Amino acid sequence: MLNFKNTYTKEELKNILVKNQMTRTKAKISIINELIQAKHPISIQELHQKLGVKSCHLSTVFRAMQQFKNKNLVREINFGEDFCRYELITNDDKDHIRCRTCGTFEKIEKIKVKNFEETISKMGFSDMTYRLDLSGVCPHCIT
Ligand SMILES: [Zn+2]
Repeated sequence: MLNFKNTYTKEELKNILVKNQMTRTKAKISIINELIQAKHPISIQELHQKLGVKSCHLSTVFRAMQQFKNKNLVREINFGEDFCRYELITNDDKDHIRCRTCGTFEKIEKIKVKNFEETISKMGFSDMTYRLDLSGVCPHCIT
């Protein structure tokens, strides 16, 4: 888990990678940086464009993201599009809901699914994580 701040120094970003036992490549540092700046969950394609298509190969971004995912630095979310989006897992976690009509994202307070958690813990599971894939039609698009 990362403590969320708006800006990290390159040094801090490198430390995040070291702490998670990943090699510190320029691409990975840039990707983490973009994820920190992103206002909403971002796709691999979008990330690649922000980094500059010529700066690295799309597959580099993809592989880095898989590693971040395995290290629990990012989570993968599907908002009902034909691709996944990614966001950093941070302490002040918010969920997002995406409008299926205009594609805008809105932040919402983390929803606690209490009964659900209780049921799962009764099954003997602990340290549970889950994700909600939320999409709908926003108030602007309904009229
Ligand atoms: Zn909308």
